Amino acid sequence: MTVEEIKDLEDSAFREIGPAQNPEDLERLRVKYLGRKGALTGILRSLGGLAPEIRRIIGQEANRAKEALETALDEALRSLKDAARLAEPPATDVTLPGRRLTRGRLHPLNRIMAEVCDIFLHLGFEAVEGPEVELDWYNFEALNLPPDHPARDMQDTFYFNDQVLLRTHTSPMQIRTMEVRQPPVRIIAPGKVYRRDSDITHSPMFHQVEGLLVDKGVTFADLKGVLTAFVHQMFGPEVGVRFRPSYFPFTEPSAEVDIECVMCGGRGCRVCQATGWLEVLGSGMVHPAVFEAVGYDPETYTGFAFGLGIERIAMLKYGVDDIRLFFDNDLRFLRQF
Ligand SMILES: [Zn+2]
Repeated sequence: MTVEEIKDLEDSAFREIGPAQNPEDLERLRVKYLGRKGALTGILRSLGGLAPEIRRIIGQEANRAKEALETALDEALRSLKDAARLAEPPATDVTLPGRRLTRGRLHPLNRIMAEVCDIFLHLGFEAVEGPEVELDWYNFEALNLPPDHPARDMQDTFYFNDQVLLRTHTSPMQIRTMEVRQPPVRIIAPGKVYRRDSDITHSPMFHQVEGLLVDKGVTFADLKGVLTAFVHQMFGPEVGVRFRPSYFPFTEPSAEVDIECVMCGGRGCRVCQATGWLEVLGSGMVHPAVFEAVGYDPETYTGFAFGLGIERIAMLKYGVDDIRLFFDNDLRFLRQF
């Protein structure tokens, strides 16, 4: 037995361990070299018959070879197990890109609604809400629109029966509020309203904010002051405002409020139909017949009311030319706000 023979044995063991493809092959090699009848074990066992000097050298070499083989077998087994684990379909694929959480945002109409309400709340108004399914009395009759009034034609809506309908404006909240409160009253009523209308500037469902202020000594100057303040907050302090005579059954006198065209700055364009002005809301002094319907004395109290369409304001503010875009739910559109 020589040191060279041990080295040769070790070399041939390494040559066999290298290409081993499975744990069974490795176990067979462990038995072959390190098992009870293994080649290296045989050498170690035969050391006793050698001269002490030789025994020490051969023994050292055989033990070193044994440790080297044990280490090599352990490592080969570990890397086979690692490879097997990687080949299995993993429970979690850590290489997949993460799922991004996209941040939502307010719908442009909700933003404008919040902005409008905020302006009036800061002016001292209080927000009230009421039913969208409304009685004819609140939607029309108490607002000085008796059953055969021609102005009803402009507010055709969806009827459940003769007396129950989808409200055409948020004005019923004027009546509902005044019925249960005494002046001073200072409210806005935001909400959804319905009309039998559908084109690029009309939707069967849209949003309004109604306003009502009733007290002793309220004049048209108060109406003008409040609505001018609103327009300047909403569209900018430099925007021109004008009040144009109009007609609503529940106000007298009545006025449409126009702003200088935000598209052309008043020079005249397609959007303002070359007039330089855009209508943004309707308003007027509360009609005495409305006060009588709720039991207020029209000789004691005066007030003003106004109503504005949120879609209209949003279209003007954002330069949107088709109302239907607000309801299409197309993210390419909604992401722009
Ligand atoms: Zn214009």
